[in-house]
Amino acid sequence: MAWSVLPDEWKPVLAERGLRPFRADQMLHCLYRDYIRDWNEATTLPKDLRETLNREFPLTRYEILDTSESSDGTKKLLIGFADGEAVETVLIPATGRFTQCISSQVGCAMGCAFCASGSRGVVRSLASDEIVAEYMAGRAFGEITNIVVMGMGEPFANYDETMRALKLINAGRGPNLGARHITLSTCGVVPGFAKLAAEGIQFELSVSLHAPNDKLRSQLMPVNRKWPIDELLDACADYTRKTKRAITFEYTLIAGVNDSRACADELARQVRRVPLAKVNLIPLSPVSHRPDLKTPDERTMMMFLDVLMKNHVQTMLRRSRGKDADAACGQLRLRRIGG
Ligand code: SAH
Repeated sequence: MAWSVLPDEWKPVLAERGLRPFRADQMLHCLYRDYIRDWNEATTLPKDLRETLNREFPLTRYEILDTSESSDGTKKLLIGFADGEAVETVLIPATGRFTQCISSQVGCAMGCAFCASGSRGVVRSLASDEIVAEYMAGRAFGEITNIVVMGMGEPFANYDETMRALKLINAGRGPNLGARHITLSTCGVVPGFAKLAAEGIQFELSVSLHAPNDKLRSQLMPVNRKWPIDELLDACADYTRKTKRAITFEYTLIAGVNDSRACADELARQVRRVPLAKVNLIPLSPVSHRPDLKTPDERTMMMFLDVLMKNHVQTMLRRSRGKDADAACGQLRLRRIGG
């Protein structure tokens, strides 16, 4: 698959197959400057080479099965692959930015209570070329300036393929999207932190925390039973010390569940264990499989923000985008397959 080969790998890969390595530069130009969708479009290459490439390194087929657009300009695409499975990707325009939210798996095994993607388990992980295909589908709508891996799936549960795709999108002779413009988000699969730190690439890292203690976190996020908060925060602290990069903790506010003053105080104490920690507060997007979970009122969210700020935690209150496009978390696929 052409989109699973990193730009620097092409020469050895071609040589191995008895193909001419000097063609690599021309091929890269076709792939990532002309953005061909089929080798037949690569008219600068000889016809027999195009045929060989189509046979041995085809461009991954994908189809946009569904789109929905929100009144705020957020666009959600449902991307279908050859085996009939589909994932969502969301395009989020903002001043000076065009952010794409991409998926790493079909469904998700993590089973967080408030998340639509996990409500039916995981079907399969995406291969790196399928993740690149999501980016290719997105960039047809405008130049992508930022990527967040916050769509369906847990990127650290599909570490190698996700990382390969992001390295390809980041590659200078590939799409060349800056590492600091690419954010991975994990629910806390602890072995991923040391692996990411060892990569030496400056991707941004977010950690979905959502609760300040094990009792509550294990209720909301089953992953916490395997890697409890102490272990998670130790891994985060090791990561920031080693990389000198900040970590952003995501905290989805759910009315009457994790939005009390006591939770805010405890959260502040916990995240201060991690150097360079930041917090993003996100109002819950209601999901159909859990009608009992509700968004807190404005006053409660402001109180929560205030407590963190008074505790000197760098905090942002995010506003949901794309609500009327079913753009929050796994909802488009659910609408299509029935949920
Ligand atoms: N598995 C990864 C990335 C996918 S989820 C992770 O857990 O980080 C991306 C973010 O959306 C996570 O912080 C997740 O907790 C949050 N999220 C999921 N469902 C949500 C909902 N209904 N409302 C608000 N945020 C939600």
